[in-house]
Amino acid sequence: MNLNIALLKGDGIGPEIVDSAVRVLEKIGEKFGHTFNFTPYLIGGSAIDATGAPLPEETVKGCLASDSVLLGAVGGPKWDTLPGNCRPEKALLGIRAAMELYTNLRPARLYAALKDDSPLRPDLVEKGFDIMIVRELTGGIYFGDRGYREGKYGEEAYDTEQYSRMEIERIARAAFEAARVRNKRVISIDKANVLETSRLWRKTVHEIAAEYPDVTVTDMLVDNAAMQLVRNPSQFDVIVTSNMFGDILSDEASQITGSIGMLPSASIGATKRGLYEPIHGSAPDIAGQNKANPIATILSAAMMLRYAFALENEALAIENAVDRVLEAGFRTADIAHGGDALGTVEMTDKILENI
Ligand code: NAD
Repeated sequence: MNLNIALLKGDGIGPEIVDSAVRVLEKIGEKFGHTFNFTPYLIGGSAIDATGAPLPEETVKGCLASDSVLLGAVGGPKWDTLPGNCRPEKALLGIRAAMELYTNLRPARLYAALKDDSPLRPDLVEKGFDIMIVRELTGGIYFGDRGYREGKYGEEAYDTEQYSRMEIERIARAAFEAARVRNKRVISIDKANVLETSRLWRKTVHEIAAEYPDVTVTDMLVDNAAMQLVRNPSQFDVIVTSNMFGDILSDEASQITGSIGMLPSASIGATKRGLYEPIHGSAPDIAGQNKANPIATILSAAMMLRYAFALENEALAIENAVDRVLEAGFRTADIAHGGDALGTVEMTDKILENI
């Protein structure tokens, strides 16, 4: 295959971790006979410094013209005092909207080699867990009608949760498709005992489930789900949920793995072309010091190969290489517990050796 990938390196550790992922993709290209063409575009604070805007028009055009997009992270103290609309983080919402990305896939997997990093009790992590959270990304309360008004007790603010059947149908399909290539179990999370939107959510998810007889679906209330994630995480395979519930639960799920530098994510839409990025931020405290863990970004590149290009063997080659490096005991500082640690470049070298 000959594929064009837009690189949004961003700020802080962004350039270092994206460079690592590019080295890994180049190695995969050599080994499996693909050509990846990389074009960098500005985003976030570095775009503000160069052009005055966090998401230049050229970046949007470049991403829309590419086959897929790999993002590092944006933001940092230098831009923290700018008004909301000019902040680096604004670019993330902007690029997701421009690319019409409505599905967020966030795996939370506990690596056997990193069990001790989990804050959960040893008997809970012993069983391991591998969860895929499918979060709706463009609807719900974050995008509903909102504002301020005069109420009974003076000034009040309101936000409105709203979902259309179409939005629920397409996210449900994304979850069932994801479950088909995993353990074929979907848990749909809502608050149907209180919210009308959740009742439509539940009804629609079950209607779509009829198209996937090989996948089982069960419902769980969000308050119970928050509890079950820390009581018995191994019960989950695929979770599908709304924008706000997914925002909160995906952070909870990432925390119980214990290692923020390890977790990739994908945002996809109607076309498979999507945006692939680590879940962590730009880590300004360690930027430019060769200390960042590149694995979350490298695994994001693996997700790109699987979901954007249907290159399953190539994705597995990366994931297996990461497993082997961790099993062999190599660590970056964030997962070394004060022991010997490799730098960003050296950890990437080890992964390349194992591909
Ligand atoms: P952060 O994720 O950047 O850092 C939190 C802690 O985790 C820090 O101690 C950092 O050193 C560490 N860390 C994060 N990634 C790491 C990695 N790959 N290897 C080793 N250690 C790592 O979160 P924060 O400190 O709250 O935010 C810093 C900046 O990042 C802010 O400007 C924030 O707005 C931005 N941010 C951006 C994104 C994004 O681009 N998607 C997401 C979250 C935060």
